[in-house]
Amino acid sequence: MDPKSEFTAEGGCTCRQVRYRLTSRPMFVHCCHCRWCQRETGTAFALNAMIEADRVELLAGQPERVDTPSLSGKGQKIWRCPGCRVAVWSNYAGFGEAVRFVRVGTLDNPDLLPPDIHIFTESKQPWVLLPPGTPAVAQYYKASEMWPKDSLARRAALIAAAAPPKA
Ligand SMILES: [Zn+2]
Ligand SMILES: [Zn+2]
Repeated sequence: MDPKSEFTAEGGCTCRQVRYRLTSRPMFVHCCHCRWCQRETGTAFALNAMIEADRVELLAGQPERVDTPSLSGKGQKIWRCPGCRVAVWSNYAGFGEAVRFVRVGTLDNPDLLPPDIHIFTESKQPWVLLPPGTPAVAQYYKASEMWPKDSLARRAALIAAAAPPKA
C-alpha cells in the first residue's frame, strides 16, 4: 500500500461553518508570489495545494463560488464560506472543477504542506527569503519537469477523464 495514501488533513474557514478533509496528499504545492495572489491574500504570497476535487471531502457547510479575474485572463472561481467569507479553495482554467487549489493556510495544521515550488518569484516581495533546496522559477514551469512521478500519473488520469480517447 502506498504510504502516501495514509495522509489526511482537515481544515476549514474561520467561523467553522465550512469544514473539509483532504483524503490524500496533494499532487503539488505552489507558493505563488505573483501580484494577483499578493492582492487576493493581502500578504506576500499564496500557498495552494493542488488536489483532485474528489479527494476533498466536505465535512460541513457549503462554500460559495465567487468568480474572480485572474492573471491568465481566464478567471478563477474562488470558493468561500458563506458566513465568514474566508476562501478555502479555487478552481482555475485548465483542470476546471476537477482540481482544487486548496489554501494551505486553512488547514488545521498548515505546516503539513510546505511548498514544492515557488512560482512568479519575479514579483516576490524583496524581504521574503526563499529556502535553498526548494525549486523557484521566475514565472511558471512545466509539470512534466517538476512533479514527482506519482503526481504526474494522477495528472494524466485527470487529463484522460476530461477527454476520453476516441475508440
Ligand atoms: Zn466561515
Ligand atoms: Zn499567483
